[in-house]
Amino acid sequence: MRPGDVIQTKRDRGVLSPEQIGAFVSAASRLDGSGWEKYHLTALLMAIYLNGMVPDETAALTAAMANSGKRLDLSDLDGPKVDKHSTGGVGDKTSLILGPLAAACGVVVPMMSGRGLGHSGGTLDKLEAIPGFRVNLSEAELRAALRKVGLGMIGQTADVAPADKMLYALRDVTSTVESVPLITASILSKKLSEGISGLVMDVKCGAGAFMKTREQARALADSIVKVGTANGLRMSALITAMDVPLGRYVGNGLEVIESIETLKGNGPPDLTDLSVALAARMVRLAGLAPDDGSAEKQVRSALSSGTGLEVLRRCIEQQGGDPGVIDDYARLPSTDAITAVTADRAGYVVSMNAEKVGVAVRLLGGGRDRAEDAIDPAVGVIVRAKPGEHVGTKHVVFEVHHRGGPRLGAALDLLKESFAIGDAPPGSEPLVLEQVA
Ligand code: URA
Repeated sequence: MRPGDVIQTKRDRGVLSPEQIGAFVSAASRLDGSGWEKYHLTALLMAIYLNGMVPDETAALTAAMANSGKRLDLSDLDGPKVDKHSTGGVGDKTSLILGPLAAACGVVVPMMSGRGLGHSGGTLDKLEAIPGFRVNLSEAELRAALRKVGLGMIGQTADVAPADKMLYALRDVTSTVESVPLITASILSKKLSEGISGLVMDVKCGAGAFMKTREQARALADSIVKVGTANGLRMSALITAMDVPLGRYVGNGLEVIESIETLKGNGPPDLTDLSVALAARMVRLAGLAPDDGSAEKQVRSALSSGTGLEVLRRCIEQQGGDPGVIDDYARLPSTDAITAVTADRAGYVVSMNAEKVGVAVRLLGGGRDRAEDAIDPAVGVIVRAKPGEHVGTKHVVFEVHHRGGPRLGAALDLLKESFAIGDAPPGSEPLVLEQVA
């Protein structure tokens, strides 16, 4: 099969056959002299970006990408295996809360997460703020964690979906990232490799999200649900607002504190409610509750009884971290310097741009410009006044935890620009905008 013929099929808006997709994915996994070069791969990516794929093509692409690497078989472990994936946002620490809550309800959660990039955070960076916490477990260690705790939180190993690694790197430099079929296949190929039977998707929508409009978010959620289902997963998807940071703490160590506080029952309502809503869908997909309402009751009871918190404690212990952080936040990394960003007039906070807050945290050193950058787990921002809240002149809006440095000024300027004060409180939008399945 000539690569040029495959490219021509998609260029002319045709439907690729499973064999054509297989040849493309096999070349993306390993350029082995079969005639495909990187320029063929990028030309086909652009043709897919421009002309799309029908659901059957996306499903075949997803399966081929998942099969390009190692797929865990967890069928020997008792219990339903379900995970959650978020398309990424600012202050989104729900994984640290819902993983333990779902596990406390009997779900087995093999959670494979990513690192933060650009303005959005990543679960692995948050977990690594806990002294000693290891995310690079071997398969045997992951199985032990799932057996003992019901929860294992790990990074993607080199042998998972190698085709995605090559294709994502090429998309990144050829303006072909924002394609619904390509995002669908990229996310689901990695999730299928975890050996799960169900997946809850949190598709973020708004200024701080990848998908800025409801239409884009709905298209991605629909595609992921259809393709996940076609590949044998039980699926649920929520479209949730990401205009303002979720919760109040942004930055890796700070987000660990807010996650623990939430599991202690002291979390902010938006973070608590979203974590509970997503964990409840995991419980339902696991077959442990007949509907979302009764699943939510189970999750709320794991929260109020403290069993979710105990699962997090055991998970930290199991993965080599210091469980003492749960009772003593001074064991987490912190900065000596804290600077306040204040309101210059009295009134209501009427808006806050999550992306600017995320970029400010990156400038402080809490995020990455490039995938290989190191990050500082101690820096970040606490949002002391969120939209809808009243502030007086000189009232603190952001508490900035920093280490000084040449980018502090730019971070503070961005935070000042990120919110507006008005005379009347803004209307409130629900956090869960739509449930797709
Ligand atoms: N996250 C992924 O893993 N892949 C994409 O293509 C986009 C977001």
